[in-house]
Amino acid sequence: MPYVLDPPPVVALPVQGSDARFPVRRIFCVGRNYEEHAREMGADTREPPFFFTKPADALVTGNAAIPFPPATHDLHHEAELVVALGAGGSDIAPEDARALVWGYAPGNDLTRRDLQAAAKAARRPWDMGKAFDHSAPCGALVPVAACGHPARARITCTVDGKVTQDADIADMIWDVPHIIAHLSRLVRLAPGDLIFTGTPAGVGPVARGQTVRVEIAGLGAVETRIG
Ligand code: MN
Repeated sequence: MPYVLDPPPVVALPVQGSDARFPVRRIFCVGRNYEEHAREMGADTREPPFFFTKPADALVTGNAAIPFPPATHDLHHEAELVVALGAGGSDIAPEDARALVWGYAPGNDLTRRDLQAAAKAARRPWDMGKAFDHSAPCGALVPVAACGHPARARITCTVDGKVTQDADIADMIWDVPHIIAHLSRLVRLAPGDLIFTGTPAGVGPVARGQTVRVEIAGLGAVETRIG
């Protein structure tokens, strides 16, 4: 049966060391998953993980430049470990969660901080602060077959070469298996889902003309010039 419109293209991530790409289904993101960052955002650090989403087509791949987004005067970078799921399920136990992971990548949860702050103050949804076009730059996926399941790795963010975030993924409040376990009790996870796992302290602005780079040791980098 024909469609009344051309269907949208499949969003996909490049895979390190391969010509094949990883088709993306949904993007989930964890809020406040590093203690120092939770404190810098004025939050309690003992709450269970919470989630928000971005549309799959917010992904930016291949270190592409992006336009400065509309409707903001305070675009922030957030360096994050991205988990790509090759299998799904619900009610996953933490000890079974790693088996769902296909690969890992560095990502940047770009945020219109002024819109997010206004939404928080008005108790409205975060979507327009978080889920805008080009809001999810992500590096090439490294398959688990190549990198294993990194438990500790340095994660850094630089803006025009100046270090703004410098931490270790071991400092996450909720580690990857527990994130997957929690999320799988809220939705049925599926192959192709990505999870941005939260950012360490040091988030800050990126201005027009600047280049922001997120790097995770062993997983490469994602670099984004803001037009
Ligand atoms: Mn984030």
